[in-house]
Amino acid sequence: MRQFWKVLKRYVRPYRGYLAGSVALNMFSAIFNVFSFSLVIPMLQILFKINEAVYTFIPWGAEGYSFKEKVLNNAYYEVTKLIDSVGASNTLLILCGFLGITTLLKTSCYFGSSAVMVPISKGILRDMRMQLYRKILSLPLGFFSQERRGDIIARMTGDVSEVENSIMSSLDMLIKNPILIVFYFATLLFISWQLTLFTIVVVPVLAWVMGVIGKQLKRKSLQAQEMWSDTMSQVEETLGGLRVIKAFIAEDSMTDRFSRTTDSLRIKTARVSTRQALAHPMSEFLGTVLIAIVLWFGGSLILGDKAPIDASTFIFYMVILYSILNPLKDFSKATYAIPKGMASMERIDKILNAPNPIRDPEKPEKVSFQKDLTFEHVDFLYDEDGKQILKDINFTVEKGKTFAIVGESGAGKSTLVDLIPRFYDVSAGSIKLDGTDIRNLRMHDLRGIIGYVNQEPILFNDTIFNNIAFGVDNVTEEQVIEAAKIANAHDFIMEKEEGYQTNIGDRGMKLSGGQRQRISIARAVLKNPPILILDEATASLDTESERLVQEALDRLMSSRTTIAIAHRLSTIKNSDEILVMKEGEIVERGRHDELIAKGGYYEKLNDMQSL
Ligand code: ADP
Repeated sequence: MRQFWKVLKRYVRPYRGYLAGSVALNMFSAIFNVFSFSLVIPMLQILFKINEAVYTFIPWGAEGYSFKEKVLNNAYYEVTKLIDSVGASNTLLILCGFLGITTLLKTSCYFGSSAVMVPISKGILRDMRMQLYRKILSLPLGFFSQERRGDIIARMTGDVSEVENSIMSSLDMLIKNPILIVFYFATLLFISWQLTLFTIVVVPVLAWVMGVIGKQLKRKSLQAQEMWSDTMSQVEETLGGLRVIKAFIAEDSMTDRFSRTTDSLRIKTARVSTRQALAHPMSEFLGTVLIAIVLWFGGSLILGDKAPIDASTFIFYMVILYSILNPLKDFSKATYAIPKGMASMERIDKILNAPNPIRDPEKPEKVSFQKDLTFEHVDFLYDEDGKQILKDINFTVEKGKTFAIVGESGAGKSTLVDLIPRFYDVSAGSIKLDGTDIRNLRMHDLRGIIGYVNQEPILFNDTIFNNIAFGVDNVTEEQVIEAAKIANAHDFIMEKEEGYQTNIGDRGMKLSGGQRQRISIARAVLKNPPILILDEATASLDTESERLVQEALDRLMSSRTTIAIAHRLSTIKNSDEILVMKEGEIVERGRHDELIAKGGYYEKLNDMQSL
């Protein structure tokens, strides 16, 4: 429960104003409710002609009567007067009119109280999603190699809704129900404290029975949400891999796998739902037991000699008692919703509270890149107890030079360049810009001077213009066109019907590989960074596209410091220095001709490619 209060404080606080409105409207609703029910007393009196007594008006200031006696007596007096003047049937009509009006007022207030809760509920949903989204953007890449993407999507959708549900039903429980219960209870006491005393003794016993059932729900819900995550992960994987699934005719085996997951989900959620379904009938049954007991006890009192209330008032009492059961039942519903929501909150907090080891320094130094970028004795491991990926890497890239990294797949080339923008931090050693450790720079400044072109260009479902202008503010159309020209992209963009405003589809699906690559180069051109990292940017292209892309890259590299991971050695012949990597270590270094002349590992790689 303490956990739950914390969650409420965290998310409901900005919406206090709405809460106050809800409290006020709920109070009015309760008052009108009691009042409308009380009209049942005179109606019954008239219908059953049970009251032949003659009433005289007791002045409100008169002594010797209790407030309750005055209220009842004077109400009866007014009704009998009315019957005398307009007849019983017309009086009934007037009472029914009153009933209609008070009920209208009550339901309006009730609607109002629910309506002011809507902004809270939707606001909380949005707040949680935004919080998660920001956190996801701030977490280091390493976090996502451990967590599956579908799992994160599941937490952003399903779990967030669960928490919202849980908060909303508990707010109902904390605002509406206590108000209703207080008003109803006061009415019960007002009508007959003897009967109410009796009722109070019975209620806690029944409430305890209800509470017992809800205990196990949290654990079961956690398991169910985990199964939901598995399901989402598979959907996500399938969407990303449709091409391969179809090509390898793996539809059936994927369907089997998915069917197993959805089946486990079905079993788990069925258990949770069954348990939840028990809540309503259970409270209904216990409620009726209560009513039956009170009916018997109260009925016996009325049938006896010294009845504390008359029969019509007793019926009114029973109506209010029945009404108080609903909010009590809702308490039991909340005892189900809260553990379910808290289970989801735990899963959300796993992301929100995930530590972020890659942080800005307390006192950042000013970024400067006038001389060089150096790696000094850099070691790197992805997992503390895993394989060492980089071993004692030392090199210096002077400003303006082109630097290439080659080596067979898995040698650690991508890992090495990922360390420069601090996607990961070194495990030992340091990386320095003009002698300053990059961990002493603000991440924003550091990444600001680095441009990135990947093997697999990363584009977004947006227009060509916005994809090129990505991450740069206040861009003019001329600048974008200029960048596209340098990137050899302008011509093919102009051939599109909508030119720069063409939408390129999910991840740029509507473009060819080479076109995608040239857009991502145009993006790097526009950002105009002093340091450029190319990760096998031409690896996956055909010869013609490669020529166009290589041309674009050459133009881009000419005025910059470039670190290029190269697949085809032909593209790096002119580099100022080439690092040859093997299993995480630098085995050779030098210019192309020097390395060929040396006749070592590089020459072997070169020979293999010329074959
Ligand atoms: P290259 O770019 O030279 O092909 P990588 O730097 O991609 O090589 O990979 C080097 C090694 O690091 C490989 O053995 C690979 O399995 C491992 N590796 C790459 N990324 C991760 C990761 N996110 N978590 C754990 N290991 C990884």
